[in-house]
Amino acid sequence: MAVHGMLLNKNMTTGTSLLSRWWKQPRAGLWVQILSEGITPQVNHLPKRCFDFSVALVACLLLSPLFVLVAILRGREGFERIERVGWCGVPFTEMRFAPIQGRLGAVCKLLGIYRLPCLWNILRGEMSLVGPRAVSPGEINLHAFEVWQRQSLRPGLICLWWVRKRMNIGFEGELQADIEYLAQCTVKRDLGIAARALPALLFGGEAKAPQEKVSFLGIPVHNLTMSDVIEKILDFTETEGQKQISFVNADCYNIAQRDSEYKRILQSSELTLADGIGVKLAGKLLGRLIRQNVNGTDLFPRLCQALEGTGKRLFLLGARPEVAEGVRAWVAERYPSVNIVGVQHSYYDKSAEGEVIHSIRESEADILLVAFGAPHQERWIAEHLTETGAKVALGVGGLFDFYSGRISRAPQWMREIGMEWFYRFLQEPRRMWRRYFVGNFVFLYHILMARLRGVE
Ligand code: UDP
Repeated sequence: MAVHGMLLNKNMTTGTSLLSRWWKQPRAGLWVQILSEGITPQVNHLPKRCFDFSVALVACLLLSPLFVLVAILRGREGFERIERVGWCGVPFTEMRFAPIQGRLGAVCKLLGIYRLPCLWNILRGEMSLVGPRAVSPGEINLHAFEVWQRQSLRPGLICLWWVRKRMNIGFEGELQADIEYLAQCTVKRDLGIAARALPALLFGGEAKAPQEKVSFLGIPVHNLTMSDVIEKILDFTETEGQKQISFVNADCYNIAQRDSEYKRILQSSELTLADGIGVKLAGKLLGRLIRQNVNGTDLFPRLCQALEGTGKRLFLLGARPEVAEGVRAWVAERYPSVNIVGVQHSYYDKSAEGEVIHSIRESEADILLVAFGAPHQERWIAEHLTETGAKVALGVGGLFDFYSGRISRAPQWMREIGMEWFYRFLQEPRRMWRRYFVGNFVFLYHILMARLRGVE
């Protein structure tokens, strides 16, 4: 690729020299080069620019008294200027309000008010309302082609990765989220992301220094990211012993309050992972920040990806007969080298239990996924893991229903605003209403009570 080749020219030894050479080139020439390489997504720039300009103009007019007030009271000191790499790699200065101390400063930070002056950058055509993350020159990894791809759009005041990170579903890095955005950028999508930024701002959180292990209502949560968990699962398949992994959501916590055996199993699982918005909110209420929403459904494709070509043996146990087979077909289509050594639905006669366990043992499965729903699956694993011989077993609830296509998953935008549970409720209102409309509140009530009493 010409652009790639040009950027990674051997003579350009340091990042700064490369950047400065890039900047010094005529913009039009660069733009043509980028277009000719086909790395610009199918973005219709004109509607996007018109949308950005109109919104920024109205917002600037409405906020002009605030800008004038800050300028009068603090002069130039009232504004901060940050060097950024913008559209086509052209540098610009992003405007912000300078930080202020005290409660007012904290409110401004919390509500993102300090970023409002960059509406000026949007008016000037240096930024967009929604776009890839604005990066500073020092942050650019010059050897990554995608980094330059990102520069093919104006950086955004709001970016997709920020929204996902705030809502704890930023599983990929910011660059991947930006590339995803570039591939599907439309004004409609921008509006959607901007709308999701509001709940992300108000209810999301920065998990800056989370603890390794946090505890809610006497049940620990291993505060890990999705990739940590994948790494651990692979480790467990190599090391001595057999491990149980459990996911806990608000409903699981409620069940555990009345089912001491289940609670004990959660407490003694090798990993207990925080699943869903309820646990995240509990974390916020108790000041125990949860790194990531690590649920089985999001973990599964990543696990399949990690298992590809490793030869590790995977056994799928649970759900209805055609459902478990559907998951096998899904995996075979997308991750053909994943080794599924057995599939068994859960609607077998109790008298056939020994046979089922025997077939898992015979398959020499390394990883066993059990989808019986909580707490049944956790109890089953605790009771039979030794006999199955599997190295790791995970209770995965409705995961098979999603990947077999029996139940569709909430659209990404709903997950980003923490409303996946509502989608689930709409699909099975009779079964789910109590879990979500009563269960979530009961859980948060227990959490608040625990906070008031000052107990774990
Ligand atoms: N299930 C099962 N045996 C049962 C009850 C449920 O195999 O006796 C399966 C059911 O078919 C579904 C999964 O367990 O695939 C449970 O899904 P649920 O939605 O309850 O799980 P969640 O993810 O909400 O914990």
